[in-house]
Amino acid sequence: MDITIIDAPDYERVVEFKDSALGLLGYIAVHSTQRGPAAGGVRMRPYGHAAEALNDALQLARGMTFKNAAADLPLGGGKAVIIGDPHVDKSPDLLRAFGQAVQSLSGQYWTAEDMGMTPADMAHIGSRTDFVAGLADGEFASGDPSPITARGIFNAIRVAAQHRFGRTDLDGLTISVQGLGHVGAHLCQLLHDAGARLIVTDIDARQSARVAEQYAAQAVAPDMIYGVEADIFAPCAIGGILNETSIPLLQFGAVAGGANNQLASAGDAQLLHQRGILYAPDFVANGGGIINVATEILRVEEREAWVADRLKALEQTMDRILTRAKIEAVSPHEVAESIVHEMLRPKAA
Ligand code: NAD
Repeated sequence: MDITIIDAPDYERVVEFKDSALGLLGYIAVHSTQRGPAAGGVRMRPYGHAAEALNDALQLARGMTFKNAAADLPLGGGKAVIIGDPHVDKSPDLLRAFGQAVQSLSGQYWTAEDMGMTPADMAHIGSRTDFVAGLADGEFASGDPSPITARGIFNAIRVAAQHRFGRTDLDGLTISVQGLGHVGAHLCQLLHDAGARLIVTDIDARQSARVAEQYAAQAVAPDMIYGVEADIFAPCAIGGILNETSIPLLQFGAVAGGANNQLASAGDAQLLHQRGILYAPDFVANGGGIINVATEILRVEEREAWVADRLKALEQTMDRILTRAKIEAVSPHEVAESIVHEMLRPKAA
């Protein structure tokens, strides 16, 4: 296993890990440990280039600093990416080698599930490192975070509906969901139970068909999702999907979803604002997962009550952000970033 330090201004530590015999290549980015050890999941994707994977790790790690602060957790921001197709390239040996890379950072970074990863994978990683959460078994095991992530997004959608449409009741509203994996599928269940009409899409056509049948949803092709007519759009797949090309197509009153880094650039928050589309900042909407993971890292005893309290606080934070954005006539993203910057500002002695 080769571990190489990568120079990245504004990041506390970035490493490349490589084991050619196992076909393992990826990055761990530690953005900040100001509030505590950096925590954020590991994502496995068939990135086209190593530079693309590194850039994803950097952006996602910074996003975790913001997400953990917005959820008021004593954790900093970090993230890991592994280059490869999780359906083809993932193996117990590869995951164990990744665990070794995590251990080499001596607790500066805690890992957990992200795209392409499961609790069973965390067990393999955990055989080589103490700094893994999202395990299925163990004293403080928190398991798959996606059901709690979905609950947090559901709450964010209700807050967005209140601000945009003057109602938290989702009965009869049309909500489009992009990405029907761990988070998106749980979210569809909650939205369906609340009486919302669903329009869904996934690049995996079978998953799309399955969810459409389960929740009487309309399934559309992946590139059609931006143009459908819906009250709220919930992106739950990949980042960068709110951009100069997609935003002019949107016919939604609000965007509130779980994908990380939905905005291709900060300027896209402004584009949404100018079009009158209310954007619920992703790093607040999707904080439920890390709240769940934090119970394991922080060894929380009264888990359910603690998670419920934190989810409620997160919902109130979203409400405060959307209220302040309205009063100041700026984008909610701008308000959310400025709140977190205030939280991260070193306190005067
Ligand atoms: P997942 O891998 O289980 O599901 C992602 C789904 O999106 C897959 O079904 C995939 O086929 C689909 N997809 C990929 N690209 C797509 C595209 N262009 N169009 C339509 N569908 C596409 O991942 P997940 O755990 O559900 O996470 C989804 C998103 O939420 C990610 O951005 C992740 O970082 C974020 N997130 C997840 C959690 C969590 O608890 N799992 C927590 C916070 C944030």
